[in-house]
Amino acid sequence: MKQSHLFTKTKKESPADEVSLNAELLIKAGFINKEMAGVYSYLPLGLRVIKKIENIIREEMDAIGGQEMKTSILQNKEIWEKSGRWSDDVVDNWFKTKLKNGGEVGLSFTNEEAYSDILKQYINSYKDLPIYPYDFKSIFRNEIRSKSGIMRGREFYWKALYSFSKNEEEHNEFYEKAKQAYKNIFQRAGIGHLTYLCFASGGSFSKFSHEFQTLTGAGEDTIYIDENKGIAINSEVYTDEVISDLGLKKEDLVEKRAVEVGNIFSLGTKFSEPFDLKYKNENGEDKLVVMGSYGIGLGRLMGTIVEVSSDDKGIIWPETVAPFKVHLLSLGDDENTRSEADKLYNELSEKGIEVLYDDRSDVSAGEKFADSDLIGIPFRVVVSKRSLANGGFEIKKRTEEKGKNVSKDELFSILLEPRT
Ligand code: ATP
Ligand code: MG
Repeated sequence: MKQSHLFTKTKKESPADEVSLNAELLIKAGFINKEMAGVYSYLPLGLRVIKKIENIIREEMDAIGGQEMKTSILQNKEIWEKSGRWSDDVVDNWFKTKLKNGGEVGLSFTNEEAYSDILKQYINSYKDLPIYPYDFKSIFRNEIRSKSGIMRGREFYWKALYSFSKNEEEHNEFYEKAKQAYKNIFQRAGIGHLTYLCFASGGSFSKFSHEFQTLTGAGEDTIYIDENKGIAINSEVYTDEVISDLGLKKEDLVEKRAVEVGNIFSLGTKFSEPFDLKYKNENGEDKLVVMGSYGIGLGRLMGTIVEVSSDDKGIIWPETVAPFKVHLLSLGDDENTRSEADKLYNELSEKGIEVLYDDRSDVSAGEKFADSDLIGIPFRVVVSKRSLANGGFEIKKRTEEKGKNVSKDELFSILLEPRT
């Protein structure tokens, strides 16, 4: 993509009403637009990041048997009355609205009821199970606090998968697979080294749920981590009993701030009971389906990446989720430089390398460098009179201080190198 074509421009000033680093950087660099507290639009650069994250999650969900679908955002009140969750006394963060011809609908704040109601039509026999449907969806929650930028929105985009299994054993088997898939996702998104499997409160059907908590001062949770074992306990269940149940020692645990980037939950028959979600087993007996839920907030994950990966100049995207792999900068108004840069842009694009090409002729070199650092694309390639005189192109990683001049062949071999 040519930067002259990109309608967003970077901003020099930080937004006055943002206290979170992720929103500040993402707004300045033109990834998102703030509509109101807790509500953000994703601009072209931001959407590219969301799509990268979405693809990673989709690959990992499909690999464990997930089937992608799309549930509606407007939700039928009757369905939620079945579980008792329509009541504002039970759920305090609903957005609800009235229909013109009478009646009320709710905007999805979660998905268990919607899935239970749909799947009820398709689950009859033991042969129909297990199944793992999921979707990516906008979710609406009337959160009281929303000061964490895209990490806590009133409208946010998530992935939710629900597992429907014949029994506890089958459920547990999938639960472990999902745990591993989640680890893969956070690893691939570049925050694996900071992300802990965290024991949290479970509910009536299991002692614990599991959260994936990423260490950052911007998080709202307090967790106690065992660095060597790579596991953590959420402060909400941090007791002597739990510590010893998990085979941990108090002296090995360190208190940290963290953000929940995802969670997995055994639901047992909490929803299959009210929805009468049953199947016939091999002996023709009716059995309740055992469910689990598995969520990840994509905006929360994107915001977390920014929180843990930036410097005073801007964002530092991991290559896997970056909006582009290469930021190509053409400097100066020299004819030859311009035509060499155009040529390189075409060649990189032909090789399938994603490039943002700063081809703007009315912007100074200094501004181009500053924009490049702020936007945070992993590789910066500069074409200038000087680079050409030195034999080619200057390549620099966003994480490095100094670049080096390389020939076109060397440039391609660096950029086509498989990621480690
Ligand atoms: P939290 O404890 O942070 O309020 P939660 O436990 O209510 O989140 P779930 O309802 O289980 O979260 O949602 C699944 C995932 O969706 C969370 O792990 C998180 O990644 C994301 N998420 C939850 N609430 C928000 C929000 N307000 N904005 C952005 N992402 C969110
Ligand atoms: Mg939570």
